[in-house]
Amino acid sequence: MLSNRVQVLSESLTIAISSLAKEMKAKGEDVVSFSAGEPDFDTPKAIKDAVIDALNKGCGKYTPIPGTPEVLKAIATKLERDNGLKYEPSQIITNVGAKHSLFNIFQALIDVGDEVIIPSPYWVSYPEMVKFSGGTPVFIETCEKTKFKITPDQLKAAITPKTKILVLSSPNNPTGAIYSREELLALGEILKGTKIIVASDEIYEKLSYDAPFTAAASVSDDMFKRTITINGLSKCGAMPGWRFGYMASVIPELNSAVKKLQSQSTSNISSIVQAGAIAGLLGKADDDVEMMKNEFIKRRDVACDMINAIDGLSVVKPEGAFYLFINCSKIEPDSMKFCRRLLEEAKVACVPGVGFGMDGYFRLSFATSMENIIKGISKIGEFVKNY
Ligand code: PMP
Ligand code: GLU
Repeated sequence: MLSNRVQVLSESLTIAISSLAKEMKAKGEDVVSFSAGEPDFDTPKAIKDAVIDALNKGCGKYTPIPGTPEVLKAIATKLERDNGLKYEPSQIITNVGAKHSLFNIFQALIDVGDEVIIPSPYWVSYPEMVKFSGGTPVFIETCEKTKFKITPDQLKAAITPKTKILVLSSPNNPTGAIYSREELLALGEILKGTKIIVASDEIYEKLSYDAPFTAAASVSDDMFKRTITINGLSKCGAMPGWRFGYMASVIPELNSAVKKLQSQSTSNISSIVQAGAIAGLLGKADDDVEMMKNEFIKRRDVACDMINAIDGLSVVKPEGAFYLFINCSKIEPDSMKFCRRLLEEAKVACVPGVGFGMDGYFRLSFATSMENIIKGISKIGEFVKNY
């Protein structure tokens, strides 16, 4: 009954585990969930107020497919102010979350047999979306020694005549790695003279702690021309459920194709969400974002110290985002088995590394209260002791 196309898709493991933890909690079980890929903070008041105001003024009509002139201008302003990127509003398209931006991009660019280079570990949805588009994911393995970042030599070796896209995620989900300007420049050097397009997923931009964030498109003119900048407010505006993402690129054919695709699928994203997002984009919630970031730094430090004190587990301190990618290979190389038993026996929900393309690791989201972090990691310590 089902199309071959949909049958190649696996379910999102991050969403599956978060949902399972929520179900267990709803049944009254005392579960500590470290599976959430969303801030536990509420959406900043300035963003909510902007929505209420827009609603009262009447904003319920369809908008242009890429977004209202106001939201596109606000995104252009943000990209120039924060990232030094000069995009025209006509080069920007809003989408139903950054996930939708990526989905549209892959659909618009990939033909059967095209290769998409994805550094591993990767966010669970990249390979699935690529496969759904008929493309072939080509993984570049990273390791702790290179702080989970690909090197120019690795990139060079992965490129073939079929390579269409390189996906970059910085700050990275699940490792928190951040590529520096120099590292991005060096990767850009390898791409020079090729037609490879860079899809730069910058959704965790504002959650950069120890290293400054650099937008891939900002490092050189060549990179600006070949990079699609993907961002949104799900993580850094604490509005994941609102579904606001966007893409910006100076590739006119791509922008037209995505607008066409969107005109036949979702149409414009919610007009109400667009109105609220403008406040976030124009910096009206910057104080809240700074507060959230400082809180994440405190939690990260406590969580890292606690994990590294557990015999058998270790973690490289993440430079950004809100995840720890923890090495459990000394006690259990099968991350699925480790996480299943952790949930069943210790009632702690984490996501197996195998879902991110790297077994022997698991992901712990510290987007939860300090109280939960202390309680949950203490339980992990007990669980590991008896493993
Ligand atoms: N990219 C990465 C790396 C993510 O972790 C997420 C989280 N879902 C997304 C994109 C998608 O974000 P959004 O909620 O805006 O679709
Ligand atoms: N990005 C989040 C995560 O990695 C949200 C869930 C999802 O969309 O995958 O957990």
